[in-house]
Amino acid sequence: MESSSSKSSICGDKDGTVGEFLAQFDFLELNGSLNYENFCSICDKLFTPGEIEQHKWRICEIFRLFDADKDGLLKEKEYKIFCAWARVIYKPVSALLIVDVQNDFIDGSLSLRECEYKQDGTDVVEPINCLVENGCFDKIIYSLDWHPENHISFYENLHLRELHPESKVTKENAKLFDKVMFADPCVEQILWPKHCVMNSWGAALHKDLIVALDSEQVRKGQNPEIDAYSVFFDNNSKAKTELQNILRKSAVTHVYVCGLAYDVCVKATCMDGLRLGYALAVIDDCCRGVDANNTEDTKKLIDENGGLITNSDDVLAFVNYGKRSLIMAHQYAKGLTSNAGVP
Ligand SMILES: [Zn+2]
Repeated sequence: MESSSSKSSICGDKDGTVGEFLAQFDFLELNGSLNYENFCSICDKLFTPGEIEQHKWRICEIFRLFDADKDGLLKEKEYKIFCAWARVIYKPVSALLIVDVQNDFIDGSLSLRECEYKQDGTDVVEPINCLVENGCFDKIIYSLDWHPENHISFYENLHLRELHPESKVTKENAKLFDKVMFADPCVEQILWPKHCVMNSWGAALHKDLIVALDSEQVRKGQNPEIDAYSVFFDNNSKAKTELQNILRKSAVTHVYVCGLAYDVCVKATCMDGLRLGYALAVIDDCCRGVDANNTEDTKKLIDENGGLITNSDDVLAFVNYGKRSLIMAHQYAKGLTSNAGVP
């Protein structure tokens, strides 16, 4: 479905510049340095009282990350890093990343309804459409699982390659959804039913999913010899997709991830995005998974690694009304101060 709506007027310039925001704090102009108390008063203006109360330790931790020499003051280079952080937290650049909302995962050969968790992939279409139509995202990206006929992940292709002698499951015993180890390349692989063959009906986006104007599409999993769960990299983290280039071109700082399947491709994408230093949230009501336990573990893992678990109402509050997440701000501070730097 093509997007027909023109985005509502809320996507205009919602508020002033970060310079105007920071100008209200007299102490910032005095000496270009900042103590913890003053840092807290800036955070009081950026985040809601409820969030500050719940996550006070994060404010302390963010200050500690910036205060490299541990003298209790942010000055010179530390102060510059704080300013870079404040600029982004005040005015983030946000992308919506919609993972693999394709026919095969909804009504086709790898339909989530047929998996043990009995989730219905169709359920994500409406809430995602609502975000696409109403959210003021700077970029919207759709990923597509996109495999050649001879892809390594297909159970039907098991006869094409040798298994590693140490593979716990042998060719003779292998069943759908078993994990085997291939000999060359030496990779572990879950054997999925044949799905998302490039240019097939199964690989197409669901017909009711709105494709936003000016959006981008990223295809993954084209290499027959290696699977690609993450929208950033293939499964051995060697080959990159176009995603990082797209995000970099738009100077994206905050990535909101949704789609299918929660505990497979959404999970891998979130973990790579966090590792790369993006402020990242997963939109819980816009995801559906293969397995109940793995989906719960996915949420835990994203949380433990600095990601935010959120819902589409909150995402609209973030991107339309300037609400901010202290969890995402903390994650962005980690990216800014790590050796890897921000993306
Ligand atoms: Zn696949």
